[in-house]
Amino acid sequence: MSGAATPDWLSAQTEALAAAFARAHLPHALLIHEAPGGGGEWLASWAAQLVLCRNPGAAPCGACPGCARVRARQHPDLAWVSPQEDSRQIRIEQVRELAAELALTSHGGGYKVGIITPADALNRFAANALLKTLEEPPARTLLVLVATQPSRLPATILSRCQRLTVRAPQRAQSLRWLHEARGEGPWEAALDVLGEAPLLAAASDPGEVAQVGADARETLEALAGGRTDPVAQAERWARSQLPLRLLCFENWLTERIRQGERSGAFLTELRAAPYLSAGGTFLNIRELFGLVDEVRDLRATLDVPLNRGVALEALFRRIVPAGGVRNGVQG
Ligand SMILES: [Zn+2]
Repeated sequence: MSGAATPDWLSAQTEALAAAFARAHLPHALLIHEAPGGGGEWLASWAAQLVLCRNPGAAPCGACPGCARVRARQHPDLAWVSPQEDSRQIRIEQVRELAAELALTSHGGGYKVGIITPADALNRFAANALLKTLEEPPARTLLVLVATQPSRLPATILSRCQRLTVRAPQRAQSLRWLHEARGEGPWEAALDVLGEAPLLAAASDPGEVAQVGADARETLEALAGGRTDPVAQAERWARSQLPLRLLCFENWLTERIRQGERSGAFLTELRAAPYLSAGGTFLNIRELFGLVDEVRDLRATLDVPLNRGVALEALFRRIVPAGGVRNGVQG
């Protein structure tokens, strides 16, 4: 991805950081609370360039070797900490390494920067180890934590970080930026699948995302219409692009909830028990919300060894209109 295009929805944050740095009031620790794919890591990298740029009058200039090395994640005074390989967690050894790194004298005679992303992947032991560094940060140290769910971090860590919030941009802003950063592409269709997450879209193959999105929708409609076999479809989904397909599943369910709310189908449903009425809803709202939760759970546990095909098949069976299984409000 080109590092040149600035996401314009982050200008308030970059201005605030630049002003704090100019007054020598930059905090030791920042917590960037981002909407998924909203640009938290981009902002963290920008902050690192701010303090490691070699053009002090114009920092971050974006063009000097300091800025370029930060963007390539190869700056000797920058440590970038993320889950390793297939792990979903940041482990204590990684935090200890980071602390040791930050304690060394900077190569460039200035700042040392540590970026932890996603910081909500710090496991309990790693978070405790990080606390020591946050309590007594070495001078001229900048620690940047990027998280989509900071509530998963201990309060002791949160209270020691200055928080910056990155909201999801408007669709038009995302599209403008994606065109600038990545050129032409089916960005609208990719964002329909990924949500308002332009940085995620920029790192993807938008054509493939759009294609998987269309395929997933077709499968789900066919399942809901009783026109395809849940076993075969579950096996097919489990074989490729499962995380993306599960995201599509979640979107599809959420859309059904919205449609039901708009049409008033759920209101009728609450008043009169049998819901399979004129609205064409095939599941009640409780079922839909339950399914959304279960799809999310499956997405969150994809690294746990289990038979994904079987788990998925069970979910698919719930949307198949199998004679009378789902046509009554329980309880
Ligand atoms: Zn620079």
